Amino acid sequence: MPRFGFDRWPRATLTGLVFLAILAASLYSWGKIQTSVYDDFKSAYTVETVTATSKLSRQFQTYKNVLRGGVSLFQIASDVSEADWARYYQAYNLSSEYPETAELGYAPIGQQSVNVGSASARPNYAPITLLANYKTNHANLLGYNLMQTPAVRQLLLAAQVSGKSVVYPKLNLPGEHLPLGFMIYVPVYSRANPATVAERRSDLRGYVFMAIDSRVAFAQVLSATNPNFGVSVSASGQNSPAEVLYQTAYFAQLRAQSGALSTSQAGAFDQPNWHLNFAATPALISASERQAPLEELLRGIFTSLFFASLVWYLIGRREQRAAQLQLQIIQSAKDDLLSLASHQLRTPATIVKQYVGMLLEGYAGELSPEQKAMLSGAYESNERQLEIINQLLYVARLDAGQIKIHKNIINLNKLLKDVIQTQTSTFEERRQKLTTNLPRKHIHLPADASYLPMVFENLLSNAGKYTPADGTISLRAYATQDAVIVEVGDSGIGIPAADLATIFDKFTRVENASEVSGSGIGLYLTMEIVKLHGGSITVQSRPDQGSTFRVCLPLGDENPNQPAEQTKPVT
Ligand code: ADP
Repeated sequence: MPRFGFDRWPRATLTGLVFLAILAASLYSWGKIQTSVYDDFKSAYTVETVTATSKLSRQFQTYKNVLRGGVSLFQIASDVSEADWARYYQAYNLSSEYPETAELGYAPIGQQSVNVGSASARPNYAPITLLANYKTNHANLLGYNLMQTPAVRQLLLAAQVSGKSVVYPKLNLPGEHLPLGFMIYVPVYSRANPATVAERRSDLRGYVFMAIDSRVAFAQVLSATNPNFGVSVSASGQNSPAEVLYQTAYFAQLRAQSGALSTSQAGAFDQPNWHLNFAATPALISASERQAPLEELLRGIFTSLFFASLVWYLIGRREQRAAQLQLQIIQSAKDDLLSLASHQLRTPATIVKQYVGMLLEGYAGELSPEQKAMLSGAYESNERQLEIINQLLYVARLDAGQIKIHKNIINLNKLLKDVIQTQTSTFEERRQKLTTNLPRKHIHLPADASYLPMVFENLLSNAGKYTPADGTISLRAYATQDAVIVEVGDSGIGIPAADLATIFDKFTRVENASEVSGSGIGLYLTMEIVKLHGGSITVQSRPDQGSTFRVCLPLGDENPNQPAEQTKPVT
């Protein structure tokens, strides 16, 4: 299997890579979903626009059908009476079926109308005769000459030539409020379906026309569209700007919304001047579908975070285990070295001590005072060396679990006095004053007589070492109901608060003690021996004011002491 060395990559790099990889995949799928949602929106939009357009086309076709009927009527008979026309439009029931129809009329070419002047002046004279005025207020149109408005004339002549219907795109319908509308004209010929342009020119009889109120007409078709889809129909006149014939509710707001789609279709229903404008917001598709991309994105971010955290955690745990293992390996190597070194050092150091001792004793002849002084110095150094070696040996044995405590009831007063005796000369040399405070009634406790003295030797020795000449050292012991307390105090250099937590660690020395020689093992051994006795040790200290070490040793279930008694200072 190929190896990429991922295990050597930093934790943050690997975690970041996992996060970025999953996030990139999520972003990719988010993009895909977003595109597909947008496509769905576009399809829904297209469906709506096609539906609206075809509805309008159908409506338009209906108007044309009504007009075609009228055309047939005039083509069949040359003399359609007012009553015939009335019957025709009544058949369509215009006022109720087509309320948008403002007018349905007939404009015969060249015919003399009721109140319009001579037709001879114009060949294309086309007065509105209004065979029947189905809306009464349009009587003012009677006799109006359609051909006199240039734009309308142009359209009518085009209709004549093509034979097809034409639409006048925008006009104000007659009436009280002058509503906007449009007109449809269909040419009427004297013969059915004239084939050529020449025939259509010669056979034109007139035009059937219809005026439609655009607002009512478009509302019928478009008002029921989806509320998120809007349509507007605008028309520009021949020389006038575009004007909205109709628009569905909220069309403008829909178009202005962010993410809205809008398009415009020119020339609707063959009318070059008409525009159908559409607009829709994404709300056209379901909310759940619209939210799909966001949900995907959130899911992606969450998944990336989750897996990145998992990787972070797993790598962290692996690193922690590796570090622990490393520490164990180093510790055991140190222990091995310690044990080996101390054993190997002890024998030669002991031999040196013996030989120097013999020289000092005069076994090799009388020594001069200088020789004696030099050898004494060597002897003392060798003693310190042995002391350290012994301590190292203890540490090695401790760490190997070889030190076992065998408890017997021992006399603490006696033990402490013996320890003091070993140190008195040192205190005296430094002119240090030792005060002891031991109870008159001796304290007894269960302890190992071979190890417990080391605890107080170390504490008293440290008190002496780290207290300047002329300082004071104190030793106090007392028993409580279930424990024995021994306090060793001094007025020495003290220990900074930041170092208090580490002074009991192996080989730890505090900076302010650097002028005094030491190995950093004593307190570690002291603490371990106290712990092996089931006790505890604490320290209170202030730099330059002194320290007090407090050892607490349990008395066990069977208290070997009599009830507590008043203590009195001795010595
Ligand atoms: P050392 O051989 O250095 O004395 P210890 O383990 O006995 O080793 O003590 C560890 C360190 O704790 C010392 O180096 C010293 O910095 C500090 N220390 C111990 N006892 C005292 C004390 N009585 N006063 C001030 N500092 C002390």
